[in-house]
Amino acid sequence: MLADIRRLAGRISERFKRAYYGPTFRCPVCHFVLAAVDADGNGLLVCPVCGAVIEIEAVYGHIVPVVLDMELYRPQPKLRVHPMATHLPIGLFPVALLGVVTLLAATFLKRLGLVGAAPGGRLSVLASAVLVLLVVSVGASLATLASGLWDWNFRYRRRTYRQIRLKIACSIVFLALGAGAIALHASGLVFAASGLMRLDSAAGVAADFAYLAALAGDMVVLATLGHIGGTLVFGR
Ligand SMILES: [Zn+2]
Repeated sequence: MLADIRRLAGRISERFKRAYYGPTFRCPVCHFVLAAVDADGNGLLVCPVCGAVIEIEAVYGHIVPVVLDMELYRPQPKLRVHPMATHLPIGLFPVALLGVVTLLAATFLKRLGLVGAAPGGRLSVLASAVLVLLVVSVGASLATLASGLWDWNFRYRRRTYRQIRLKIACSIVFLALGAGAIALHASGLVFAASGLMRLDSAAGVAADFAYLAALAGDMVVLATLGHIGGTLVFGR
């Protein structure tokens, strides 16, 4: 079952990578996967992980990367703000999601008469805690995005890399979906005073659905951001 899910996720991400990256090749030094489209007008490209200066030769339709030089001077800040700043969003968002799954389960258990819920009870405290976690996680991701842009500006000299473009786009999607989920949560449309999800009206069910979809989408985006960030640090 787990292997099937992994295989399916792998197939989806491979198809997406092929469409988004186009033809790719591995850096001959660190084996990081690079997109040929990122090369400049002279067919030159600097590997963001190891600093190899690569010239792309096209031989009978195959990409042959030739290492011309190594970029010896690279800004290596002692205080690595971006990798540290990723911890708050990546650490807290899944905890908030776990709280929402607990509240969703409690909502269905309540309908079956298996749990009780009262305004100001434990479930309402949990709903408030989820809101705090979401605000801290999504709010802190602003600092993560800013420090990431700073690194791109100085460490990677604003060179175009497919991976970094995707990270910037994913960060904006994360912020937008996160802000939407926070607004829905704070509006009181999703959770009743008891902390249970509102299932009593069509508007309540629609708000619940939008809230859960935004959170699930954000989790996928967050996992993608973390995965690409990891490859930019450790190569492949
Ligand atoms: Zn490399």
